[in-house]
Amino acid sequence: MRLRGFRASIQPALLAFCLTGLLFGHSPTHAERPATQYLQPQTRQPAVSRDVSLMSTRVVFSIVLDQASLHSTSSSSSDKNTARAEKAIDQAINEFQRIETLMSEWRPDSEVSRINHNAGGDAVEISVELFRLLQAARQISELSDGAFDISFRSAGKLWDFRKATVPEQEQIQQAIQHIDYRRLELSAPAMDSEASGQDELPKARISHPNTSIGLGAIAKGYAVDRAAQLFRQAGFDAFSINAGGDLYVAGRKDENLWKVGIQHPREYDRLLANLPASNLAVATSGDYERFFIHNDQRYNHIINPHTGYPANGCQSVTIMAERAFWADALATAVFVLGPSKGLALVEKMNGVETLIVDDQGEVVMSSGFQSTL
Ligand code: AMP
Ligand code: MG
Repeated sequence: MRLRGFRASIQPALLAFCLTGLLFGHSPTHAERPATQYLQPQTRQPAVSRDVSLMSTRVVFSIVLDQASLHSTSSSSSDKNTARAEKAIDQAINEFQRIETLMSEWRPDSEVSRINHNAGGDAVEISVELFRLLQAARQISELSDGAFDISFRSAGKLWDFRKATVPEQEQIQQAIQHIDYRRLELSAPAMDSEASGQDELPKARISHPNTSIGLGAIAKGYAVDRAAQLFRQAGFDAFSINAGGDLYVAGRKDENLWKVGIQHPREYDRLLANLPASNLAVATSGDYERFFIHNDQRYNHIINPHTGYPANGCQSVTIMAERAFWADALATAVFVLGPSKGLALVEKMNGVETLIVDDQGEVVMSSGFQSTL
């Protein structure tokens, strides 16, 4: 479904939202990354919240406390609940840090760096957890015809957003020859064979020395999913995790516990939509997150693997899905595919919806997105 003039129709809701004074965004500089999603709790229920910097992003955890314990006459019951929520948030913070240590391509001792260092050489043993995420990344590459490709890195690393310079065309042409997700070979031990011990680990190998991988478009979403899992295991069913462009909210739908505000890609103090959400991940990829302008041309951090240049068919892409790692990776994939191919991909997928702002600032929505507004 293509909607023109959508912006006008959402003005009243938007104004009401802005007047609540809940926006904490501000105009970004080139190096800064504005929050792309805002959360508005819809009830006065008390919550335990923490605002921390993790994976180079501002992350806000919030756990809503159980009504029953709050109305209990015993103050120790509500103290206990607060302490449990604080502990669950501590665990979620540790989990983000653990995932960064495991998956960051910038940390020389991470599993991802070990795969990169051995590119063109031997396969390296990796955790089952990373193996599964790499399998998912491959699946998204296949679904998106290589628009999402974690081996974007050979071209990606030529772009320096602090120096704000455009690489030589020749360098880019050479670099894109080394982008190919099929060069990452994944092998798992045969779990059912008697010969394979339970302790055997899966392996990964990059088949060419000039190819390397980076999980910047999927790892943060994965960390959000893991934090959500920890909160549920701790017995909480109403919470939010807001990691910049990647967010998950849990809670009762009918009471509209959460509303997710989707940032306007050009006017940072405005929202495009205000989405009631429950048990849902919402991720946004935007060309305003990291970019520079050179000769009137905007260059952003999402690379089209086929050209080696930043993708420029969209200003922003928001994806709703059940899991945050899917939403995260698909937002990047659809951003590269552009509005028409991106929308076609989302319409084929169950349980996934999108709101795309194209390069002209027009809003395009998948059929199920509008019905949620
Ligand atoms: P996101 O903000 O989730 O769209 O992720 C952007 C980040 O993903 C970039 O900073 C890169 O680390 C990485 N990236 C850029 N282009 C691609 C691509 N085509 N496929 C996969 N990852 C990418
Ligand atoms: Mg992403």
